[in-house]
Amino acid sequence: LAILPVYTYEHPVLRKKAKPVRSLDDDIMLLAKDMFETLHASNGIGLAANQVGSLQRLIVVDVSEMEDSGHIKPVAMINPEVVDEKGTWVMEEGCLSIPEIRAEVERPEQIVVRYKDMGFVDREIEADGIFGRVILHEIDHLNGVLFIDYLDTQAQKQLRGRLNKIRRGEVDVPYQIVAELPTAETVK
Ligand SMILES: [Zn+2]
Repeated sequence: LAILPVYTYEHPVLRKKAKPVRSLDDDIMLLAKDMFETLHASNGIGLAANQVGSLQRLIVVDVSEMEDSGHIKPVAMINPEVVDEKGTWVMEEGCLSIPEIRAEVERPEQIVVRYKDMGFVDREIEADGIFGRVILHEIDHLNGVLFIDYLDTQAQKQLRGRLNKIRRGEVDVPYQIVAELPTAETVK
């Protein structure tokens, strides 16, 4: 298993729409395992394939360390889609691809998500709280959408300096990154 580097803002792969996975093969199985490794190594709670440079509709979510979510097992979802949603709530979010930035985002409160599991079996589950939020955040990644896209123009303006630093790879994180405009030190 491998810990993969995380692609950071504003690498073009984060703005592309990932493609549906048509069949289960060894590459997808390995990718899912490596994504869990990467997620745990970076202390994240969710990761989409775009974030490790792969344009497959695959996400991994692990909120088992979060308060009140300890009963929810880590899950990999292939071709996830939201088929129903209810209510809205606001919570502060962050993203492994946008280090050191957090912002409040409004999202649906309860969702029904349809996906294929790692046996390529169709599943449909209800999700709410942090679990539902992470799923929505990761599905956004598969569609080239980032949480900062929800901020108003003023808030985005205020973040511009910090975002430019991220673009140049000037971030202090305990995991390897692939920046949009790598400086000499970040090229490995
Ligand atoms: Zn993210």
